Amino acid sequence: MKIHEYQAKDLLKTYGIPIPKGITIKNKEDAIKAWESLNKANLVVKAQIHSGGRGKAGGIRIVNTRKELEEYVSHLLGSTLFTEQTGDEGKPVEYLLIEEAVEFKKELYLGFTVDRSRACISMILSSEGGIEIEKVAASTPEKVVVENIEPLLGLKDFYITRALVSAGIDAKYFRKIALVAKGLYRLFIEKDCSLAEINPLVITANDELLAVDAKINFDDNALFRHPGILSLRDYKQENPLETEAAKYNLNYIKLKGNVGCMVNGAGLAMATMDLIKLVGAEPANFLDVGGGATSNMVKEGLKILVSDKDVKVIFINIFGGILRCDTLANGVVEAARELHIELPIVIRLEGTNVEEGKRILKEAGLKFITALDMGEAAVKVAELLGKKEING
Ligand code: GDP
Ligand code: MN
Repeated sequence: MKIHEYQAKDLLKTYGIPIPKGITIKNKEDAIKAWESLNKANLVVKAQIHSGGRGKAGGIRIVNTRKELEEYVSHLLGSTLFTEQTGDEGKPVEYLLIEEAVEFKKELYLGFTVDRSRACISMILSSEGGIEIEKVAASTPEKVVVENIEPLLGLKDFYITRALVSAGIDAKYFRKIALVAKGLYRLFIEKDCSLAEINPLVITANDELLAVDAKINFDDNALFRHPGILSLRDYKQENPLETEAAKYNLNYIKLKGNVGCMVNGAGLAMATMDLIKLVGAEPANFLDVGGGATSNMVKEGLKILVSDKDVKVIFINIFGGILRCDTLANGVVEAARELHIELPIVIRLEGTNVEEGKRILKEAGLKFITALDMGEAAVKVAELLGKKEING
């Protein structure tokens, strides 16, 4: 789960990390109040969306007059912002963070993430923070220093010292950087984060450190033990189809292709996606209805697939175990009738009650395309996609 910058900064503050003074607003009147109560000489207005890259996309601006502030606030509030990370749909701007602009002499990058292959948390530090950090990492990786933290030791000082030296940061900042790094590391662990990043962490004109931006992501599987974090969730920033799927306990992730997949079991879902790629097509989603799906879940899953405008062919690949083939077939038939599904549906069924499932599909009198095995089903999907009326 992701949260907004202003929420992340509130968290940083509770962990003793210095942040600029600011106010979050939802409307123009409150923006003017913020203008009145903050130091007016230099304010920075920041679009709050679940995405980085806002600076380059016109979502961050320094304003010097009340008129400038009003104009920019009117322009941003209610708009949709498109960044390198949002995809074509963009993200709606409902909140703005208005802060006293910080003058700084250096932008650093500091972040923590999970390194799954090493089974540890990694600290990442760079003296070249700011909006070009991805470029820095790609073209001069030596400027991005990674320390893999031994879980039983925790973030000891030597990790920070070593990172400072490797990153070429003056040792006089050790104490201040250590304070920020230790606070962020503690937050990361206590709140079960998957990413906690301050970019930029700036060194101000008076040699103070300030977190000018903050991005924190949480491990969804641990949210049950953090009700406070869960309450920060902003569904409007999430993919509406993914939100809908979560309501019915469906594991759904939107992808870029045009084959809508419905599969039971994550392993089979992955294999199905591989197969789709092998025949030269692209999956529109990952959808695992799970082992114990009911026919209602199958129906809701199909509803999600057909409401995705990118989907041109539906591929249902089920191995009946706990989810019996007849249950699946009933869900599919019901959904196809109720939703008047026009899209071609290719179905491959195997496992418990497969004969009964096939009979239900056949007797429904709908135009399902059935296949005996996964390979044949994938080839049929590719053939359908090759037809002109589908791409047309
Ligand atoms: P992002 O583009 O979504 O990562 O948004 P950031 O909050 O990181 O802002 C992008 C860039 O805008 C930063 O790297 C800074 O260079 C600049 N910026 C943001 N806030 C301030 C500020 O208070 N003062 C100054 N001078 N620059 C700022
Ligand atoms: Mn940033």
